[in-house]
Amino acid sequence: MALVNIHYLNLQNNYLFADIAKKVNVFKVTHPKANVISLGIGDVTQPLCPAVINAMHRAVDEMATAENFHGYGPERGYRFLREAIVRNDFQPRGIHLSPDEIFINDGAKSDTGNMQEVLHWDNFIGVTDPIYPVYIDSNVMIGRCGTFEDGKWTNVTYMPCTAENGFIPKIPEDKHMDVIYLCYPNNPTGTVISRQELRKWVNFALKNDALIFYDAAYQAYIQDPDIPHSIYEIRGARKCAVEFRSYSKTAGFTGVRCGYTVVPKEVTVATFEGERIPLHQLWLRRQSTKFNGASYISQRAAEAIYTPEGKEQVQQTIDYYMQNARHMLTVLRSLGFECYGGENAPYIWMRTPSGTSSWQFFEELLYGAHVVCTPGVGFGPSGEGYVRFTAFGSHEQTEEALRRIENWMSRQG
Ligand SMILES: *Cc1c(COP(=O)(O)O)cnc(C)c1O
Repeated sequence: MALVNIHYLNLQNNYLFADIAKKVNVFKVTHPKANVISLGIGDVTQPLCPAVINAMHRAVDEMATAENFHGYGPERGYRFLREAIVRNDFQPRGIHLSPDEIFINDGAKSDTGNMQEVLHWDNFIGVTDPIYPVYIDSNVMIGRCGTFEDGKWTNVTYMPCTAENGFIPKIPEDKHMDVIYLCYPNNPTGTVISRQELRKWVNFALKNDALIFYDAAYQAYIQDPDIPHSIYEIRGARKCAVEFRSYSKTAGFTGVRCGYTVVPKEVTVATFEGERIPLHQLWLRRQSTKFNGASYISQRAAEAIYTPEGKEQVQQTIDYYMQNARHMLTVLRSLGFECYGGENAPYIWMRTPSGTSSWQFFEELLYGAHVVCTPGVGFGPSGEGYVRFTAFGSHEQTEEALRRIENWMSRQG
């Protein structure tokens, strides 16, 4: 008899995007003529840039001859890509990493979800709230989160990020946390963390012997030169932080699949006897046992992002999305909505009109304007009373959606 991992049965069934799709489908069936625009799901829409496409074509051609064919790649990923990463993503910001501290993967979701498995099951985790659901769910799967009561897991520390505290999580004095998940620029709120606030977290982790898992999937969207792109811009972070990066939002790789994780050699975790084990060594062991790498073609595609043409082309697409974000902020604010984010991230976090829940507003907007947003409460209890809009649409769709929202609002008087 094969027994189930019972922790899987504790996972909450409310898979946010499935619930949204269900409601949108009901609407479409009852309103077959309506053309619904989604500003909901966090997928990109613009094509890969020419530098990436050319690199992929070249890599495919290499695979066609015995001399240039590439089979299984090195465990951490190809050196050409790891060196390009160190040279382009970190050195210019004064961060010194060895290419051996970079692990190429098939995107940040896998590693943010998998990293927890090299840690003992009874560590306590802390998350900012609202949050990207992968961090909590992957910990639920190993039984680390306790039970689900009143919208929260009993063994997880939630640090609310709301308009009331300026979306700056307060470090709790009275809660024990071994592992802290931070995501900046943030999905879903689109807000960022200042160097000064990030320093507080690094100092907290060093003082309390905690580990920080830092998700920087949206760092390419930062416009303000004072906002840190990497946690390693903070002194001491090499001792306590792992950083996740992704080409998905940076360069439209959601369908190509490539990203990387930085595990500095100084980061260690403890045994009960007090011995310190390098996390790097554990992660290398885990990856070489369970993962066989991102494809050669994907890694050549990622390398092309760091060429002069690649950099310029990727920047153009980011600017395209950020133009949407600016336009959305302007229109939504002019309609009297309270909006956050959208300045250094492709997400706008909007407060619903008073007394309207996230799901209620979602339905009103769907039926009134035929526009889909994401209910904030789906990202955690502190997301109630907010919705998320993404700037990843085309200009045309985004503008049309905004026009509809304006018309809908004016009909309401
Ligand atoms: C989209 C996203 C990722 C990246 O996912 P990939 O697996 O790299 O496509 C990681 N973290 C957050 C918060 C995201 O929104």
